[in-house]
Amino acid sequence: MRRKLAAGNWKMNGTSAALGELAALQDAHPDPGVDLLICPPATLLSAAVQETHNGPVMIGGQDCHEKTDGAHTGDISAAMLRDVGARAVILGHSERRAGHHETSEDVRAKARTAQAAGLMTVICLGESLLQREATNTLDIIGAQLSLSVPDSSTGENLVVAYEPIWAIGSGLTPTPDQIGEVHDFMRDRLEQRFGPGVGRSVRLLYGGSVKPDNAAEIFAISNVDGALVGGASLKASDFDPIIRALEQA
Ligand code: PEP
Repeated sequence: MRRKLAAGNWKMNGTSAALGELAALQDAHPDPGVDLLICPPATLLSAAVQETHNGPVMIGGQDCHEKTDGAHTGDISAAMLRDVGARAVILGHSERRAGHHETSEDVRAKARTAQAAGLMTVICLGESLLQREATNTLDIIGAQLSLSVPDSSTGENLVVAYEPIWAIGSGLTPTPDQIGEVHDFMRDRLEQRFGPGVGRSVRLLYGGSVKPDNAAEIFAISNVDGALVGGASLKASDFDPIIRALEQA
């Protein structure tokens, strides 16, 4: 049985005032029926870990470097994330693939280091609108999946998030059939590569304009084990109904 996961990506949003949202989330969900993960900006990680201490909300980073340490100004290592109390890291988000020219090979190297440091890696994949219109979605997802996911992956340290680039922050979402097709495909590929035991235990999240009003429909789709949520994770009052929809799925 895969335990469902509601993950929030705060991106470059939030100063210390936003920590109150974590407190509100924990107050609303003292004993959630799903796993909860919030990935705030790096500047808030330490305070976020303290704020959620002993509570159900896990804290994660939004990226880490592939090297364990060294001369990499501005970067953060996986060990630093662990040291501050983070338990997970998002890798290969499309905003990093586009804005920081990260390739799937880069993502795999980062994921290998992060998994070795004991972090759960949330590896993001997704096609552009042009690629979807050219009916290349499954080819793109298949290539990103095989190149971005390291051999060291297990059901505990790997979560895969399908995030169509055109759905992120746009208010657009794929149809349930489109989401289901990609999630079933990713499940098959993971089972082929890692065997049925590991392949079936990896959680598959959908991400891209998940909101309180579409969450239940998305969570009813086969092989959707939760969501990676951007905008609607910033306020506990928006994230709360999404979590409740996942608990009821
Ligand atoms: C994201 O950036 O991971 C995301 C899914 O954003 P949003 O929910 O705002 O579309």
